[in-house]
Amino acid sequence: PDTKLPKVGTTIFTVMSQLAAEHGAVNLGQGFPDFDVPERLIESLNRAMREGRNQYAPMTGVPALRQAIAAKTQRCYGYLPDADSEVTVVSGASEAIFDAVHAVVRPGEEVIVLDPCYDSYEPAIDLAGGRAVHVPLDPRSFAVDWDRVRAAVTPKTRMLIVNTPHNPSGAMFGEDDIAQLSDLLRRTGIYLLSDEVYEHIVFDKLRHESVLRYPELRERAFVVSSFGKTYHCTGWKIGYCIAPPALTAELRKVHQYNSFCSFAPAQWAFAEMIEAEPEHYEQLGAFYQAKRDRFREQLLGTRLQPLPVAGGYFQLVDYSAISDLDDVAFCRWLTIEKGVTAIPLSPFYETAPAEQRLARLCFAKNETTLDAAIERLRRL
Ligand code: PMP
Ligand code: GLN
Repeated sequence: PDTKLPKVGTTIFTVMSQLAAEHGAVNLGQGFPDFDVPERLIESLNRAMREGRNQYAPMTGVPALRQAIAAKTQRCYGYLPDADSEVTVVSGASEAIFDAVHAVVRPGEEVIVLDPCYDSYEPAIDLAGGRAVHVPLDPRSFAVDWDRVRAAVTPKTRMLIVNTPHNPSGAMFGEDDIAQLSDLLRRTGIYLLSDEVYEHIVFDKLRHESVLRYPELRERAFVVSSFGKTYHCTGWKIGYCIAPPALTAELRKVHQYNSFCSFAPAQWAFAEMIEAEPEHYEQLGAFYQAKRDRFREQLLGTRLQPLPVAGGYFQLVDYSAISDLDDVAFCRWLTIEKGVTAIPLSPFYETAPAEQRLARLCFAKNETTLDAAIERLRRL
């Protein structure tokens, strides 16, 4: 049929999870925890449903949750957004990204994305009639080459999408990136979409450089986060967007005709959880750092070479000592023949570096799951 996304297939995450299930592989592919969500959250969700919080939530999100998000933002980044005019609750970061792009990108306009990047950005841009302009990150450190980004700006550039901590690499912005980003956007009308879904999963005492810390950046930004990552519940699909009032108003126009509102009981549960247990997100970095360190230690006993990880819950590994297959073929082989599922990197690129031999492993898993994977990876 003559449709709008001719080049798009099923996402690599779905494809690899299906392949893992078919072959009984240990699934370190698609990013999701295999451990429980905090008990308090389950209780709050149950209570919300029993107390009748089962009808439409306000279009913009339950007020108590928007206030909790605003207060948390101030605690974390020293900026208090207005809960009514700057915070919107949506159905996952995926919806926030879609809504933000559709709110501002017009046919023929360009959006700069930094490759490798999350796979939902480009289809959202395409559906809005825009064009994604891909600028590669450094193939090893995944640092931004700001001169290349600057060179990609044209009079048609409408938006720049950044992601820190970064999926798939785990790289993070430093203060220098923020300075370069500010410099680049100053005196332009370019909007910024900052995907910060892994904001609380940060290691080695590094500081998450949220765009919300910087007045000059946040005045043009949609900042997106996801409770799926912070509270181990990727299936609940609740996220949010913080943006200045004028941008929030535009985002809400899309949101109200996209989903209208998001799952109400979970909104009540998160409102309670954020306020009652701030230590959950405060300690999330340490929780995942222990997993990262243990997993990396174990990887030293394999022929996979781990790359550095500053944040997020993914570990990139170089498999060139094991195989010369391209990454898609390697990840299929690893799943089918060796019983461990990883995600290839090339689907995150417009054009992946030809010689790159990298795969992504998710370590948001119980020790028993990671141990089972390592036992198989040792035999490679
Ligand atoms: N952005 C990035 C970088 C992600 O990794 C994810 C989750 N895979 C999303 C956005 C989407 O988040 P959500 O599940 O809340 O829609
Ligand atoms: N964000 C998850 C990942 O990167 C996948 C989300 C999805 O399956 N759409 O693995």
